[in-house]
Amino acid sequence: MAQAAIDSRIKPFPPELQPLEQCIGRTLRQDVYAERDNPPFDRVCMDGIAVASATLASGVRRYRIEATQAAGAPPLRLPSADSAIEVMTGAILPFGADCIVPLEEYDLHEGAVSLKGEVNGDAYRNVQRRGSDSQPGVPMLKAGIRLGAPEIAVVASAGLAQVQVSREPRFRVVSTGDELVEPGQPIAEHQVRRSNAYAVVAALRGRGFTHVLDDHILDNEKMLHESLGQHLSQHDVLILSGGVSKGKFDLVPQVLKSLRVEEVFYQVAQRPGMPMWFGVGPAGQAVFGLPGNPVSTLVCLIRYVVPAMTAAMGGRVSAPEPIALASEARSRPSAAYFLPVSVRHDAAGRALAEPRSPKGSGDFLALTAADGFVELPPQAEPFPAGYVAGFYRW
Ligand code: AMP
Ligand code: MG
Repeated sequence: MAQAAIDSRIKPFPPELQPLEQCIGRTLRQDVYAERDNPPFDRVCMDGIAVASATLASGVRRYRIEATQAAGAPPLRLPSADSAIEVMTGAILPFGADCIVPLEEYDLHEGAVSLKGEVNGDAYRNVQRRGSDSQPGVPMLKAGIRLGAPEIAVVASAGLAQVQVSREPRFRVVSTGDELVEPGQPIAEHQVRRSNAYAVVAALRGRGFTHVLDDHILDNEKMLHESLGQHLSQHDVLILSGGVSKGKFDLVPQVLKSLRVEEVFYQVAQRPGMPMWFGVGPAGQAVFGLPGNPVSTLVCLIRYVVPAMTAAMGGRVSAPEPIALASEARSRPSAAYFLPVSVRHDAAGRALAEPRSPKGSGDFLALTAADGFVELPPQAEPFPAGYVAGFYRW
């Protein structure tokens, strides 16, 4: 299995300590424990008055307001059982009180409260008890998760200004080919726009990777040797597109070998993307040689490179989302097939994958009508509508 071969050869990226504001989207590499009880004190969760529930239960309907307890102020003490302390949401429960009557339920006149109607006087009404959400020492977050907005809030609540996250891989995306011309430059009939590198960079940046540079190298052995040698010395991951097939000018595998990049595999029983190459550089750099056809490049990137990077960053790689085919589809007896699909929902809300077959692996326009692709294993018989396949989003 290509993915297993990749995962077994990529060295994990080391963790680094980063300030919290730099951590959004990064992979957490430590467990995060609660700093204190959460809530850290019996917390008032309504604006109103704090009273003793026993006094309420004994039928007392009028209370003198003795003081006001704001959020952030140290706790006051109820001076007598028939008094009340005005409290604000977020304040600590005053000593001697155990029930909050919200301000809608009483009239306030000259510092005295009279209850309006039937008032619920349960102990700890409108009080979030100390430690009811979590207790210190309990891991709130485990290493391996991706830090989104709620997780960042949890780290902050644990009192950590810095946290261990995965170091971001330094990527170099390299397209090879004499025929490729940059957007914005004049182009001749026999030339092709250099679109793959833009798609690869977009897919990586869209997934939160920031150290992504690109380059274009001609199909020239000396130039490839020189530029790839330099990129290897400066990056953790090279993603090459083109030049890995068996044509006379497909020089990438031999140049990589001459740079002491060890070939782990060459060619995978899959369509598109059969010529895919993977190897490991002398310093452990991951080198992906993806076929140049635009559909192949993007499919191989998302199917192999992205999960491998997630794993190398210490993240959890989830299995592809299961989705049912909306109509019959075919692979081949000897090769897995990556079928572009768009997702729609039936009347019951179930997701269905509608095949959006490209005309060939150069038909990247077809990909814009698809949300991603499903992987169909090698098989002679067609896969019926309803068959559940693994779905990868662009
Ligand atoms: P190759 O894998 O180099 O044999 O390229 C296969 C096909 O993909 C050829 O038709 C190339 O012109 C095309 N191709 C290669 N690289 C790119 C690229 N970066 N952008 C668009 N098309 C490409
Ligand atoms: Mg080429």
